Amino acid sequence: MQGDELRTAFTALMYHEMTHVFQWSGNFTAPGPLTEEIADYMVLRAKLNGAGFALPGQGDRWDEGYEVTARFLEYCDSLMTGFTAALNNKMRYAYSEDYFVQLLGKPVSHHPMIVACHCEGTGWRFWGDNNLRSKFWGRSIQLDPVGVLTLEFDDGEVLQWSKVTTSIYNLILGKLYCDHYGTMRIQGNCKYSCKLKFKEQSIIDRNPHQVQGIVQGSNGKTLATLFGKWDESMHYVTGDCSRKGKGFESLSDAHLLWKRSKPPQFPTRYNLSRFAITLNELKNYICKQGHSPLILLMGPCNNTL
Ligand SMILES: [Zn+2]
Repeated sequence: MQGDELRTAFTALMYHEMTHVFQWSGNFTAPGPLTEEIADYMVLRAKLNGAGFALPGQGDRWDEGYEVTARFLEYCDSLMTGFTAALNNKMRYAYSEDYFVQLLGKPVSHHPMIVACHCEGTGWRFWGDNNLRSKFWGRSIQLDPVGVLTLEFDDGEVLQWSKVTTSIYNLILGKLYCDHYGTMRIQGNCKYSCKLKFKEQSIIDRNPHQVQGIVQGSNGKTLATLFGKWDESMHYVTGDCSRKGKGFESLSDAHLLWKRSKPPQFPTRYNLSRFAITLNELKNYICKQGHSPLILLMGPCNNTL
């Protein structure tokens, strides 16, 4: 490379790097490829892109990165003048894919965040799928799971419930924390159903994360009262004690139902618990051909796997 070609390449590089100095990254919450490609978009706008630069419409997805995303931003600019500048402006404190909807009226995500799981243990099966509806409030984000979780036992008892709302606070300033709140109804097909109330934390709350509820029989009678904290432990007392008020912790006839297990000393990359990891244990599911179903799902495989 020499002469004009070299000069163009060098100027393009300067445009790219100087953009990084001035652009916003949503406090580093924006996807890396997007901030990179806003920089490449500047190169494109200055007509400094070399001959090898991606062509409009190339690539498989908008956030593929590299020049594909720069071309995508160029396309968005053709729909709305000044789009990329407006997007950058919005990314000052935080990033949300919703900015595309706000500016263009169209979502970029054609793959909504659907989580599905299925697992089996001795005597039980658990499955569910969840979509996540999110609301961005500027300093916090509210996540409303949509979907039903099902736990089925071998004796035919089925329990179904939905998750409560999760909010993550202080996305911009202060200490980041999350809270779960709302009412969870665990519907049973046999004798028992349960109602759990996750109390929303208030600013002055000295006793956050509280969960209280009742277990009801099929005739609607309260059989047990539940109380505890979602990040500590849950206890139950037989019968209806909900009117006794705040003194739950001191009740000597309370029985422990669940207690949080301490996080491992050496956390995994995704903070999976030991339980979550054992759910992915494929040892018992190796099929006749000697392949695990997971490998079969991934397509043809060779016998060395
Ligand atoms: Zn860069």
